[in-house]
Amino acid sequence: MHNLVNTRKNSIYETKENLDYFKNLQNTKKELYDKLLGLTTSCSGYWFIDLQSDIFTCSCTDNISNIFKSNVENNAIEYYLQTFDKREIQQQKQKLTDIQIDLKSFDIYRDIIDTKNNVISIKESINYIPHKNMIVGIVQNLTQIKKIEKDISALDRIIQQFIKLFDKNIIIIKLKQDGTITYVSSAFSKVIGYTKEFIIGKHLSEFWSTDNKYNFSDIFNELNFKTLKPDDALQLSWQGEIKYKKKDNENFWLNVFISPITNHENNFLEYTIIGHDITINKKLEEFANYDALTGVYNRRYYSEIIQSEINRTKRDEKKISFVMIDIDFFKQYNDIYGHRKGDEALISVATTLKDSLKRGGDFIFRMGGEEFCVIFSDYDNEKSFEFCEELRKSIENLKIPHIGNTVSEYLSISLGLIVSDMKHEIIDELGLYTLSDNALYEAKKSGRNKTFMHQIDEIELF
Ligand code: GH3
Ligand code: MG
Ligand code: MG
Repeated sequence: MHNLVNTRKNSIYETKENLDYFKNLQNTKKELYDKLLGLTTSCSGYWFIDLQSDIFTCSCTDNISNIFKSNVENNAIEYYLQTFDKREIQQQKQKLTDIQIDLKSFDIYRDIIDTKNNVISIKESINYIPHKNMIVGIVQNLTQIKKIEKDISALDRIIQQFIKLFDKNIIIIKLKQDGTITYVSSAFSKVIGYTKEFIIGKHLSEFWSTDNKYNFSDIFNELNFKTLKPDDALQLSWQGEIKYKKKDNENFWLNVFISPITNHENNFLEYTIIGHDITINKKLEEFANYDALTGVYNRRYYSEIIQSEINRTKRDEKKISFVMIDIDFFKQYNDIYGHRKGDEALISVATTLKDSLKRGGDFIFRMGGEEFCVIFSDYDNEKSFEFCEELRKSIENLKIPHIGNTVSEYLSISLGLIVSDMKHEIIDELGLYTLSDNALYEAKKSGRNKTFMHQIDEIELF
């Protein structure tokens, strides 16, 4: 398998631009937090009320000292209280009295106006020191902190909105190293038809269709991140098309990017899978393989798969039986019964032939007009001939009246058969086609409604 790709270059979801955008958001947030940390530990000043000498003393930064004089003698508590709104004075007075008895420190949050007429939010942490008979207020300016907190929550909202958008619209699956699912996005849950709760904790392969081209463990072995340099792990993905099974048993296809996520020490954290739904493309592709009138495979699909079927025959050391089939006197049938009836007869013939093929590796193709090709494997000459005769009889047994057919009352077919183990040098795809077509010609020539088989040892004659 060669499905490892460079995510930066090939990914459908990660471009350098939006990675930078997120990096910027994260960096801004980090900077704001650092500032916040610096501010929360910094103090803007303090004041004392010395109850013994009844003196108010203040040492604060300029903008705050505006509300407190630096030194006031006499009526210290009253002086301090008059910096409050009139409605609050009584309550604050009580608190200053209580603290002298219960010694419980408390905080006051309030807004003040500075020298430049700006509103400043301050916090005063009030303590009583009994042995000095002093009330102390530690003053902190919270204005910047509040602004930064606001900026952080605005940034968080943006990040949350992006996360929601991703969750809703992008198929994301996270896995432990053993393949257990730890997270899925709503988009995946929606397309597969199971709730997130049902999916999480299960093994990813439980949701794979059984006929996937790739083996689960092969992919993850290939993604052996330990061999990667620290930065490569984030940039490399495994990319491929995986077929999944929905709750209602229907299949859907995802083009997936599987990436190992590591921490800064390059320890594996998880696999992240990003998927792109390609079901429609796959269905269209499949659609293009079928003949529109009869529903069996078309000649295009024959051309696509015939070589791999031949290769498989060689690899498995089996025989391939290749049959050309043509309806007898079909031109007359059309002339007598009309083209419409002719179409119906074609559908009946195709469907009957198809229904007779019961094994997985058997194929039927409409090669054009009223000609079909049937391929099956692992039957010797005799058994293949018998099977062709069954096919022939099954068509006659449809009992479709055909008065233009001189060899039967009913519509009939002729078959040309060749059986080969593909070991013979001169037989290739074209050889199979030509020999069976020639056998069909012999079947027609020798009376129609017949199977004619070329013995493989006679082929030197052609
Ligand atoms: P033979 O027994 O030698 O095969 O005689 P034939 O009349 O079947 O041979 P021929 O190849 O001359 O005729 C094939 C006819 O098949 C010609 C055409 O009218 C008919 N045919 C081909 N495609 C279609 C189709 O899609 N629908 C219908 N109704 N007829 C078709
Ligand atoms: Mg024909
Ligand atoms: Mg014909």
